[in-house]
Amino acid sequence: LFAGESEFVKGVVAMDGLPPADRVEVCFAGRSNVGKSSLINALTGTKGLARASNTPGRTQEINYFTQGPDIYLVDLPGYGFANAPLPVVEKWQRLLKSYLSGRQTLRRAFVLIDFRHGIKAVDEEIMTLLDKAAVPFQVVLTKADKVKAWDHERTLAQVRQKLSPHPAAYPELVLTSSEKGEGISTLRSIIATLE
Ligand code: GDP
Repeated sequence: LFAGESEFVKGVVAMDGLPPADRVEVCFAGRSNVGKSSLINALTGTKGLARASNTPGRTQEINYFTQGPDIYLVDLPGYGFANAPLPVVEKWQRLLKSYLSGRQTLRRAFVLIDFRHGIKAVDEEIMTLLDKAAVPFQVVLTKADKVKAWDHERTLAQVRQKLSPHPAAYPELVLTSSEKGEGISTLRSIIATLE
């Protein structure tokens, strides 16, 4: 059941810092500014919860949140910073690979894609990592309120086409707007079925 309170647990910078794998978890990945914090806040109904991940110094941490007693929501750092120093990027990629391939309780990754922009090269990189780690992933389109209804099908077709080579991708897409609340209950139900 997707119920109960959400709380920030900790920011993790290395595998040995992960909390005990004692409940199911889902993770959220996406380019910086895709609307990931807003989505986590909307999902949990807790304003300001995911802000920690956006404050300087926290951006390279894997942020853990509880959702009720049985679920962890895991906020992966936003990617696609053009000017992050290479050692920072490499350290982060190592941690990400270890996390994705080594976390037994990770049930699904949600890859957030700005509905206005569709899937870009950096998004495909993370999708390829997820394929290799055999982590099933589902695309969540964000900021749906910013796209006119008559443009929906065209963008959806692009996204479906770009997903087709990825064996770990679920074909079902989730359209969301954190602003309008669209798709939020759908996403909660999806997460609840993973318990
Ligand atoms: P993050 O960097 O991925 O955590 O992105 P944020 O959640 O901080 O959002 C980035 C910007 O997009 C902010 O200005 C948000 O207000 C805006 N935003 C996020 N979600 C939505 C949405 O569903 N609709 C609209 N119109 N704007 C959004």
